[in-house]
Amino acid sequence: MIPAASLALQPDPASGPDPAPAPAALPAPARWQRLWREAVRDPRELLALLGLDAAAAGLSEAAAAQFPLRVPRGFVARMRHGDLHDPLLRQVLPVDAEERIVSGFSLDAVGDGAARKAEGVIQKYRGRALLVATGSCAVNCRYCFRRHFPYGEETAARDGWAGAVAAIAADPGIDEVILSGGDPLSLATPKLAELTARLAAIPHLRRLRIHSRLPIVLPERVDEPLLQWLAALPWPSAFVVHANHANEFDPAVDAALARLRGAGVQLLNQAVLLRGVNDSVEVLADLSERSFAAGVLPYYLHQLDRVQGVAHFEVSDERARALHAALAARLSGYLVPRLVREVQGDTGKRPL
Ligand SMILES: *Cc1c(COP(=O)(O)O)cnc(C)c1O
Ligand code: SF4
Repeated sequence: MIPAASLALQPDPASGPDPAPAPAALPAPARWQRLWREAVRDPRELLALLGLDAAAAGLSEAAAAQFPLRVPRGFVARMRHGDLHDPLLRQVLPVDAEERIVSGFSLDAVGDGAARKAEGVIQKYRGRALLVATGSCAVNCRYCFRRHFPYGEETAARDGWAGAVAAIAADPGIDEVILSGGDPLSLATPKLAELTARLAAIPHLRRLRIHSRLPIVLPERVDEPLLQWLAALPWPSAFVVHANHANEFDPAVDAALARLRGAGVQLLNQAVLLRGVNDSVEVLADLSERSFAAGVLPYYLHQLDRVQGVAHFEVSDERARALHAALAARLSGYLVPRLVREVQGDTGKRPL
């Protein structure tokens, strides 16, 4: 997940992994790239796979046209058959409620020109520069502000990273680069390696961070070339995954996360608080415990970005605080994520 502000700079189609291999010129696509392309894109197919009726599901063609459905088949396999309220299904199914216009939920991402350092580079917080590596994702999450920017180009990558790398190199105050998107792991591994090779020449970088939902939604992405790339990075690295519900974990995800840990990265999870998905103490506690069992520490629980079409997911601040307090009363301290919201102009994520 990326801050809304970066999207205005960095819209991109969710059309597929990058780059689309040219025939003959490149090696055969990796297995994860084939699985990516085989993702379910037709809401009716998704519902049929789950034994559900489109009318009863509140399926919205208009919402699907505005922000297409996209979900890898392995993620579909973790949904409960015949359950319209399945928490994984709710995250990806385009429904009528998205068409409601609700005041306070805007169409525009809150542009933050001052935070933009270069094409695809955003700095809001001290020391950390966020690099929008690509706008592509393997899954389209209905609650994401990305829904309003389905088309565009990979701006940070367009000039072979030169502008982004130059901006970071020119500022010795930056000691951490965050690869974000979209999903940075939707880039092919050689492209990631090209980028980090350029970053490695910058002496003031001390840490690398990667924000990616791919180990959760398409664990096959964590393949041998990716692990070799990670293990060879010249910095200590943090890897922030994004899971909102314990059911998103399965043995394939556990194995992918174990492989990541084996490559020496610190694993953290960020989740978004979503009505009808994870807005209960039981579900949030299960998520923390399940994450920890997979070697992942809870990091953030975000209040969602108020973009049009997501109001039905919103949990009030009052309820969010009550849930968080109940969670803290129940779990070990290190299993309690920080409840935060992104507020323009702040020096960091704002605790609620
Ligand atoms: C969220 C965010 C970060 C990371 O913040 P942490 O609190 O360090 O996780 C960095 N840059 C931008 C622009 C962000 O939105
Ligand atoms: S993985 Fe989902 S929440 Fe994250 S940027 Fe992509 S669509 Fe948005």
